[in-house]
Amino acid sequence: MKIAVVGTGYVGLVTGTCLAETGNEVTCVDINEEKVKMMQQGQLPIYEPGLDLLFHRNIKQSRLTFTTNLAEAIGDAKIIFLALPTPPGGDGAADLSYVLGAARDIGKIITEYKVIVTKSTVPVGTADKVTAALKEHTTQEFAVVSNPEFLREGVAVEDFMKPDRVVVGTTDERARKLMGELYGPYVRQGNPVVFMDERSSELTKYAANSFLATKISFMNEIANMCELVGADVDMVRRGIGADERIGRRFLFAGIGYGGSCFPKDVQALAKSAEENKYDFKILNSVMEVNELQKTVLVEKIKAYYGGDLKGKHFAMWGLAFKPETDDIREAPALYIIDDLVEAGATITAYDPEGMPNVKKLVGDKIGYSENRYDALKDADALLIVTEWSVFRTPDFDFVKEKLKAPVIFDGRNLYDLDRMQECGFYYNSIGRKTIG
Ligand code: NAD
Repeated sequence: MKIAVVGTGYVGLVTGTCLAETGNEVTCVDINEEKVKMMQQGQLPIYEPGLDLLFHRNIKQSRLTFTTNLAEAIGDAKIIFLALPTPPGGDGAADLSYVLGAARDIGKIITEYKVIVTKSTVPVGTADKVTAALKEHTTQEFAVVSNPEFLREGVAVEDFMKPDRVVVGTTDERARKLMGELYGPYVRQGNPVVFMDERSSELTKYAANSFLATKISFMNEIANMCELVGADVDMVRRGIGADERIGRRFLFAGIGYGGSCFPKDVQALAKSAEENKYDFKILNSVMEVNELQKTVLVEKIKAYYGGDLKGKHFAMWGLAFKPETDDIREAPALYIIDDLVEAGATITAYDPEGMPNVKKLVGDKIGYSENRYDALKDADALLIVTEWSVFRTPDFDFVKEKLKAPVIFDGRNLYDLDRMQECGFYYNSIGRKTIG
């Protein structure tokens, strides 16, 4: 099937590449000329595990091409995916200008029936708005389908190739058939393609992300309780996670959720509730807890140094909002950097993939290290901010030797408390006893 994907970010590029992998002919279009040029030359603009193999294979076999020309991309495509940004507007509601702008442009071009699929995360009612935007410029028949994306950065290729479920919101029979055909190869093991109306589909995506964010904020509050009453959040996590009704995943306490999705999606659902005159109490608490949790690590550091961080130097392991990605959007590291630098401290950071993006954003506000151990030089303490595997089992004797003092503040609970005791560290983590 001929497919066009509009927007080649984390979602668009993975979608386009994975759709080409099952034999479709995919043209990806983006307005970022530099990015398109890179991809045309066979270079990936993002870090996503496993993507490079599929990307190169499908380019080589001419099933995956890139352009900046929308008309060229959608020419004879049957299905057009919109994988465009929906950032929070000033009031927290999702900014639909990218999606609606593209819909208007598509309306000017199409000359036959097309299925236009919104993969971007968009509020309820957007399918109607996209339809209206298309109709401003065309009298052609078309269908607008909501097909929210649930991939996780870091395992995006696996998630796309073997999704837990695919959600398709459409009331157009022709579009339903085409979407069923397109996704068939990805659900051969029997995972469902759940067909529903457009509005339910749009809300499903916000419900999923908000529920997961709720789980995180809940566990962060349990962690804070643990510290007050002398319990261990890791034990509590294991204790409740074994209950099938609760499940083991998304129960890790930490320094707040970040990334390009949870913060904006929770906010957008809360805004959408407000617009519908509904007071969505849980969501407001989830956001409030997250704001507080983002400050927890810095508060611990300040308390340890008696409130005075002037002249202190910290090694920071991790910048990306989670491991296995170079995405730093809304990363907790950014808040921690701001707070520490404002308090007069300096930082040298190391992250396996996130440093170029942080450099672009904050420049020489912090120092960068080529490897994890060099970052420790002259540091008063080590801060763990992202749980990359490479940070899990360092040579603790060497870490101790390199640091000015054996002090670790761990926002991701990577290390075993007994081991920290044995090694003679002061070790302060989240929701667990402080060592030393
Ligand atoms: P992104 O910012 O990484 O990529 C968006 C791309 O669209 C950029 O390359 C940009 O240049 C391009 N673009 C902007 N305007 C354009 C236009 N008019 N024509 C063509 N290209 C244009 O965004 P993303 O992370 O891929 O997210 C896209 C959407 O998917 C958002 O709504 C997001 O909420 C949703 N989503 C993201 C994830 C994720 O993990 N990143 C997961 C599920 C859903």
